[in-house]
Amino acid sequence: MSFISLGLSDFFQRSLDTLGYETPTAVQSQAIPAVLEGRDVLAAAETGLGKTAAFVLPLLEKLLNHPGLRSNQVAALVLVPTRELAVQVEQAIQAFSAYYPRRIKSLAVYGGVSINTQMQAMRGGCDLMVATPGRLLDLIEKNAINLNQVQHLVLDEADRLLDLGFADELQQIINLLPAQRQNLLFSATFPQEVDALINQLLFHPVCIEIERQNKLPDSLTQRPIEVDKAQRTTLLRHLLTEYPGAQFLVFVASKRTAENVADKLYKYDFNVETLHGDKSQTERSSTLAAFKTGKIRVLIATDLAARGLDIPLLPYVVNYDLPRAPADYIHRIGRTARAGEAGTAFSFIDPDSDAHFKLIVKRNQLDVTLEQIQGFEPSPTPTQASPQNTQGKAPVKGKRKSKKDKLREAAAREQ
Ligand code: AMP
Repeated sequence: MSFISLGLSDFFQRSLDTLGYETPTAVQSQAIPAVLEGRDVLAAAETGLGKTAAFVLPLLEKLLNHPGLRSNQVAALVLVPTRELAVQVEQAIQAFSAYYPRRIKSLAVYGGVSINTQMQAMRGGCDLMVATPGRLLDLIEKNAINLNQVQHLVLDEADRLLDLGFADELQQIINLLPAQRQNLLFSATFPQEVDALINQLLFHPVCIEIERQNKLPDSLTQRPIEVDKAQRTTLLRHLLTEYPGAQFLVFVASKRTAENVADKLYKYDFNVETLHGDKSQTERSSTLAAFKTGKIRVLIATDLAARGLDIPLLPYVVNYDLPRAPADYIHRIGRTARAGEAGTAFSFIDPDSDAHFKLIVKRNQLDVTLEQIQGFEPSPTPTQASPQNTQGKAPVKGKRKSKKDKLREAAAREQ
């Protein structure tokens, strides 16, 4: 099956050839004809399965004969949860439209950078806008953007948009859109809030379910390692030495941990950088670019900063801290072992996070075995003996366990 046989114009073949896209992925072969037909689409698909092309290509096709726009108008709006994803999707639009027969204007708008530049860029309108909700509303407030001509709306990573607390912003944006429009919603998971959004937004959608929710590639090895909390950085150093030169993406729970761990590795001459919400947009972009080109060996990131990143051929992922949401475990380890390449995902399990790991395993139906690494075996005493608790500190975060933590622990005990 070819992309052109799905109903796309011939000129796309050249850009697809340049990108090395030979055959459509499952989500592309199902979504492209449906979007071209003008149908609403609901796709259960994660990053890494080609969902960007699944909506960008048919939208570009539909915009071919779009009449001109006035200064602040937008024809197609893609809402994304993070700045990085906004940049990534916009770059994909540019790449796919390299041989477009008319000038097509796309823009990525997101916070953390000058709003004036974005206001100026809106002059002459925008065919395809990729935006994070907050900055989009700021631009609307300043009359730089008017959504009354939007014909196509895409919610990319809808679950994450809601996770990040964008529900109110989303509603405000939806209220500004014309009633007649095409809606496409992509989400990796379907919590209740996403279901509500689906009911509100989509009209008789074509439903696409791409089976990978829990299905990880065979080439991905999961290695959950039992280790004392205080030994995690030393263990990380050990792994970095064990696999000399290989790139590592390390997930941590907070900006502070990211900086602490990075400082410690830096002292041992490791080429390490951090990626988290406190970094400026410019820093985040250059760090990511440097990591992608191999100039940085170890990247320590929080979930928020790393979500949606397309880092090709990454051999090692480390969960220094476990993710809070079980679904994020899959997102994280899915950064490695792409396109048939081998990859390993290490997870550090200490006595405090053990129950939570059991929950992650259960929710994601994982088939894993805990292991220990010689020299890093956890101390024999159970939970109370962990260094954090002996100092009277909270096991996860904050002073007390949250209700969610208690529920998770209870659920894990029930197994
Ligand atoms: P996405 O799920 O859109 O983030 O895409 C994940 C990765 O797969 C990106 O690096 C894309 O460039 C790549 N990709 C998407 N579709 C195809 C395809 N049909 N053939 C080859 N690579 C693809």
